[in-house]
Amino acid sequence: MTSESRPHTPAPALLPGPVLLLGAPGVGKGTQAQFLMADFGIPQISTGDTLRDNIARGTDLGKAAKGLMDQGQLVPDDLVNDMVKARLSQSDVERGYILDGYPRTLGQAEWLDAHLVSAAVETLPLVAINIRVDEQELLRRITGRRICPVCKTIYNIYSKPPKKEGVCDNDGTPLQHRSDDTEEAFTERMKAYNSLTAPVIEHYSHQGRFREVDGARSVEEVTASIESALRELRQAGE
Ligand code: AMP
Repeated sequence: MTSESRPHTPAPALLPGPVLLLGAPGVGKGTQAQFLMADFGIPQISTGDTLRDNIARGTDLGKAAKGLMDQGQLVPDDLVNDMVKARLSQSDVERGYILDGYPRTLGQAEWLDAHLVSAAVETLPLVAINIRVDEQELLRRITGRRICPVCKTIYNIYSKPPKKEGVCDNDGTPLQHRSDDTEEAFTERMKAYNSLTAPVIEHYSHQGRFREVDGARSVEEVTASIESALRELRQAGE
């Protein structure tokens, strides 16, 4: 999805700082991260994308992660924490960044909180946005999801099909269906989410800089809610 293909959301004059996008598989974290990235000019850091990239390149990390990912299970904390540590040491994160799909366990959240303090990479305190969508709708979104491997645009065969079936509107690349976007893997991913990731939401909800948004609306409405929540949180300096 490109920022040109939707009604324009004016780029807010706001220093976004570190933003966590939380929520179950399929709530739209990746789609929303792409819009926030375009609107605020900060990078999206998706641990899922980084792991898939490692799988595609056949690295040791990719080999360790593939079986777990295909079954809908989480990759061990130390592997993902190391990936995030390396990414946060790059210079493009200075104005902020969007963490998409991380942290997913309390161990990761505690590691991240401590890392940001000790490494002094934090320009502003973290803000966390939790996107909520009910589970039946999530299954439809997951099984219908198709992704362009080149520009990473996310489509859905039911709700946002490409103009020409199976190929990306932007670059004509054949779209891909993630190997873990099946009903079986989704069931496992939801189990992991409910037992391991729900406590992360609880953790950040107690820290004050937290908002929930209803993700069952149009993509544009959800983006507008997230951006207004961010503005409120930053202006309040909570
Ligand atoms: P995602 O693209 O965020 O849906 O992630 C796809 C899969 O990658 C997950 O089901 C996990 O197997 C793995 N993964 C991504 N991020 C993490 C994380 N923060 N911790 C553990 N596993 C992760």
